[in-house]
Amino acid sequence: MVRYFSAIVIGLLSVLKGMAVTVKYFFSKKVTMEYPDQRWKMPDRFRGKVGCDTNKCISCLYCVNICPVSCITLENVKAEIPAVVTNLEGKEMKRLKNITKFEVDISRCIFCGLCTEGCPTGAIYMSHDYEISCYTRKDMVYQWVKTKL
Ligand code: SF4
Ligand code: SF4
Repeated sequence: MVRYFSAIVIGLLSVLKGMAVTVKYFFSKKVTMEYPDQRWKMPDRFRGKVGCDTNKCISCLYCVNICPVSCITLENVKAEIPAVVTNLEGKEMKRLKNITKFEVDISRCIFCGLCTEGCPTGAIYMSHDYEISCYTRKDMVYQWVKTKL
């Protein structure tokens, strides 16, 4: 008989203990988000998908050569009339070659950010975009410039 009632008391205490945790979190500040309707704001230095403003690019090939996994491809041809681009220090630079192909294979990118650190014009950058999953490897190649010659 004693064992019967003590089991009931222990059961009730367990329920109360569990409910105390539920009540505590019910009234505390919410820490979850309803993704994808809500998203975290990424820190300024977050390294997401590599992006490029091709209008600012002077086709210097720095990013291509520095990339440790060679996932950036840039092809160019001599420009008849060089375009003028303002670099990060506000000085004017000439784009002597027109870009015919400029792409990055994100499936190989290690998000090191090296390509962005020495870009003289700030054309290439690490975006805050982290939603880069896709179904095929081909879709992971982002073409910034593709010109049919
Ligand atoms: S380093 Fe910058 S300017 Fe040079 S090719 Fe790459 S994106 Fe263009
Ligand atoms: S972040 Fe690193 S691995 Fe990715 S493209 Fe730039 S240099 Fe290459």
